[in-house]
Parts: sequence; C-alpha cells; structure tokens
Amino acid sequence: MSNPSGSFSFDMVVFGASGDLALRKLLPALYLRDVAGQLNPDTRILGVARAEMTLEEFRSLAHDGLARHLPPGELNDTAWQRFAARLSYRAADVEQLADFAGLADDLPPDDSRVRVHYLAVAPRFFGVICQHLGAVKLNRGQSRVVLEKPIGHDVASANAINDAIGAVFREEQIFRIDHYLGKETVQNLMALRFANALFEPIWHRGHIEHVQVTVAETVGVEKRGGYYDQSGAMRDMVQNHLLQLLCLVAMEPPASFEADAVRDEKLKVLQALHPIGPNTVASKTVRGQYRAGAMQGQAVAGYAEEVGNPDTTTESFVVLKAKIDNWRWAGVPFFLRTGKRLPMRRSEIVIQFRPVPHLIFPGAERDVVGNRLVIRLQPDEGIELHMMTKVPGPGGMRLRRAPLNLSFAETFRGRQPEAYERLLMDVVRGNPMLFMRRDEVEAAWHWVEPILAGWAALGDAPKPYMAGSWGPSAAMGLIERDGRAWHEDMP
Ligand code: NAP
Repeated sequence: MSNPSGSFSFDMVVFGASGDLALRKLLPALYLRDVAGQLNPDTRILGVARAEMTLEEFRSLAHDGLARHLPPGELNDTAWQRFAARLSYRAADVEQLADFAGLADDLPPDDSRVRVHYLAVAPRFFGVICQHLGAVKLNRGQSRVVLEKPIGHDVASANAINDAIGAVFREEQIFRIDHYLGKETVQNLMALRFANALFEPIWHRGHIEHVQVTVAETVGVEKRGGYYDQSGAMRDMVQNHLLQLLCLVAMEPPASFEADAVRDEKLKVLQALHPIGPNTVASKTVRGQYRAGAMQGQAVAGYAEEVGNPDTTTESFVVLKAKIDNWRWAGVPFFLRTGKRLPMRRSEIVIQFRPVPHLIFPGAERDVVGNRLVIRLQPDEGIELHMMTKVPGPGGMRLRRAPLNLSFAETFRGRQPEAYERLLMDVVRGNPMLFMRRDEVEAAWHWVEPILAGWAALGDAPKPYMAGSWGPSAAMGLIERDGRAWHEDMP
C-alpha cells in the first residue's frame, strides 16, 4: 500500500462528488497530498453522483473547485494535469442497486488494495450505500467507508445508521469523521498534555477553576438551511465537535498512543458527563436564534427568514454548563458555547487556572488573575499561556497579564495542512485514532437527547439575539451567575 518514501496506492470513491463538501474540501485536500508526493502514480479518485457528466465535464468541475478553494498559489498546471489523470466519474443513483454493477466493474476484486468509499452525501443514504457496496462485494479486504456527520439525530436514528453500516463493514473499516479532530491544534492539545511534564500535574480540579469551549461562526445557515432547520446547533455542533474537544481536555492520560486506548479514555469522559434533563435544562442551558442585524457593516437577514420558515423554533446558538462526575473534574464547570452570526469566527478552548493562594503584592488584588491557557483552533491556530508579569519601569510593583504566545504560523513556517488532508491520509493508512468509534457517537447522543427532550418539554422558543452579537443576554447571565465571564470579557 505504501512505499518507503511514505506515498500510497489506493482507490478513493467519492459519493456526492459534485457536492459542496467534495469540491470545497475533499478534492482540494487530495490535490494537496498529491503535490506533497503522497499519492503513488496508480492512485485513482472516482467521483459518483446522479448527474450525467462526461469525464471532461467532471474534470472541469473539479478544476473550478480547486481554483476556488485551494490556498492562493497552490494550483499549478503540471500538478493539475497529474491530478486530473487520476480522476474518473460514474453517474449512479446510490438508491439503485443496478447502478453499483458499473462501480464494481471500475473496481475489480483486489483484496490487497486500499479502497476508500467516502460518503459525501446526505446521511439518509449511508445505510443504502453500504448495503449496495456489500451486495457487489466492495466491502472486502482493505475496503473502508468514511461517514460525515451528522450520524443520526438522536440515539435511535444513530443506532439505525450504525447497525446498517455495521451489517456490511467491520468497525475497524468504518471511519466517522469529525474534522475538528484533524486540526493541528487539537492534536497539539494531546502533545501539550502528554509530551510535557509541566501541565499534567496541575490538570485537575485542584488547579483548574473552569474550562470554556467556544466554536463561534460569523456565517448564517448559507445554503444548508433545509438541513440546519431540522438539526440546530445542538445536533450540528455540540453533539460532535464540542463534546469531542471537551473529551480531549478532560480525558485521563491513555496508556499508549493507540487508537483504541485514546478512544477508550474519551468514551469514559462522555459516560461521566452529569446528565442535564427536564429539571435542569432551564438553569444549565440557553438556546438562541439570531434576528436580522449587521455583520461588518452589512445588513444580514434573521434566521427564520434565511431558512424560509417564520415559525421555526430551531436554535442557532447554544450555551451550556456541563459537569463531569469523576475525581479529576468534580466541581469544575465546562462551559460550551457555539453559534452562528456571532461577531467573529473563532474556535478556542480556554483553561482558567485558579488564582494564587496568597497575594504578597499590596494593591494588586484587582490586577492579579489566575493563569489562563488559550488553545486557539481557528482562525490562527496557536496556544497562548497568559501569565502575570511586572509592568516595566520604576515605581511600584505594577502587574499585568501578558500572553506567552506559541503561534504555529510563526513557529512552523510554511503552509499548515488542512484537517481533511490529515484525516484522508489517516483513512488510507488505516489509523482510526482521530475518528469517532460507534460507542462514542452513541454516548454523546445519550447525553444530548435528554437536553433536547428538556427543551421540547419547556416548550419555549429560543431567545432572540441580534446577528453580530455574542448571543442572547441570558448566555452572559448563565456564566455570570457563577461569578465568571467569557474569555473576551475577562480582565
Ligand atoms: P450537497 O452539496 O447537497 O451535495 C450532495 C451530493 O450528493 C451531490 O454531488 C449530489 O449530486 C449527490 N447525490 C444526491 N443524491 C444522490 C443519489 N441518490 N445518488 C448519488 N448521488 C447523489 O451536500 P454537501 O454539502 O456536499 O454534504 C454532503 C454530506 O456531508 C452531508 O451528509 C452533509 O451533512 C455532510 N457535511 C457537509 C459539510 C460541508 O461543508 N458541505 C460539512 C460537514 C458535513 P447529484 O444531485 O448529481 O446526484
């Protein structure tokens, strides 16, 4: 599969090859891996969708996608010619078994060859695609299947999807992607915790006061209104991305850097989350929905107008206060926050340490705050440790918080690879560490479902917030009631 120089031979079938995900993320990631020399000459990429297209039309679509979505300066003619020669296209309706016969002709039996079936289509097709792949024996040998979120919309539907896929593929062949886990900073969180002796001894309730995980988007629902209105921020973001980030902060050190050792520890965190249900949902969560407002001086529509549903009660914003019932984290709140049409695009994890136990600097009570570790996932990946320092100059001992900054862009010159580049090659390598195991998906749904049920029982609409603001005022209230503040409001 791979030669000594670390390049790979494989076939990648992209179901939904003309869709947004394929053109914006998957093909650009494969192209960049090709430029990096990781694809052997015999590696092929086969696009599948219903539209009838000639090979030239598909290549032209792919070229447009690369031109629009690759980082500036990355698309060049020589590399494109090599990449284009790998592409082929087959018009097929995934619901028609007969259409899979042609696919099987394109991929003659070879149990030693890595075959990746990437399901970049709506989740309702996951089961039927797997069933049809099984029927034409494309599930054998080194075949793998990659699923995008959302995997279900509650415990029962996630189980149904996982059962349907599990009937055809073994668990080790199934890669449930959460692209947040492919981000360099997220993996760096593991390096920070487990490759440095500095943090782990203080990584617990004795020294950590609280944790914040924020995934803020400036965009509205864009073209995904139909899907999003059925889903909402809780299902679209919290159930997967935010809970996965929480797991990486909170998990115990795994015994080894093996995929299952890491995933076992994440699972234990999910299982230790304190339940939030009908009795506590009002005090532990806030959900919001944006109204018309302004983003960078431009007027933008409200959520209901964007999705074309004036009666919608779907949330575009969630804040919640989670707790983990174990010895390490008892009493430490984890505040999770995500939303659309917020003032800036920012994903970060903030670890707030406790203040010093005894202050020896007279008059500095207001200035001295606990240390804070900020792990920034986007836009500019990096890690900051906020320390107290003396303000230079004569006079009294004036103190101020200042960041020690590890900016990846400055420390590691050159382009930072996209999450999908890393994750696609991990699928090819057969390394499932950064993918969600079935039990993790189910445990996350088990925690989320009572919150959704609690909201339904309350029956109130999400609280309104202006597009361009940090969410409803109740979101501020939730953290302020605890005597705490969001990172951007902290001293
Ligand atoms: P999309 O733009 O609507 O594309 C869907 C693709 O599926 C098209 O290529 C479409 O082509 C094809 N398709 C639809 N019905 C088909 C059928 N019966 N047989 C064969 N092909 C069919 O969707 P997307 O945004 O790329 O999303 C794809 C999946 O990724 C979804 O599960 C979504 O939730 C997930 N996802 C997307 C993003 C993103 O950034 N876009 C992010 C995270 C997760 P034809 O109409 O020609 O068949």
